[in-house]
Amino acid sequence: MVNPSGAECAFYYEDFQRGSDRQECRAAKNPRSAVWQPSDCKNCPVPAILAANGSPYLELSIFINPRKLIIGRRVTAEAWCSLHGPIDGDPHVGCPECNAVADDLLRALFDEP
Ligand code: SF4
Ligand SMILES: [Zn+2]
Repeated sequence: MVNPSGAECAFYYEDFQRGSDRQECRAAKNPRSAVWQPSDCKNCPVPAILAANGSPYLELSIFINPRKLIIGRRVTAEAWCSLHGPIDGDPHVGCPECNAVADDLLRALFDEP
């Protein structure tokens, strides 16, 4: 679904039909995070991560820093692989173990006589 900032985001949900007025971020699961607001989408790294990484095993949640009132709210993403656990590196690149498996498969394909 297209989020309030105009980017495609699989975690965004809205329903304005039949008198409904509902907007949700389904990546906002961290209980220590500030409460999500639609304006947080414009600072969120998730749409770019999803565009860069199409792994079906990629899981994401966001954290909104509630204490950055002077310089604005900061949204960060936590990524993990449902097969291999937390992703410590750049989530745009994805899970190193899944990438290694994909590399091995490609190598095996191209090394076939
Ligand atoms: S805050 Fe981020 S993850 Fe949540 S709906 Fe907006 S763009 Fe998507
Ligand atoms: Zn993985």
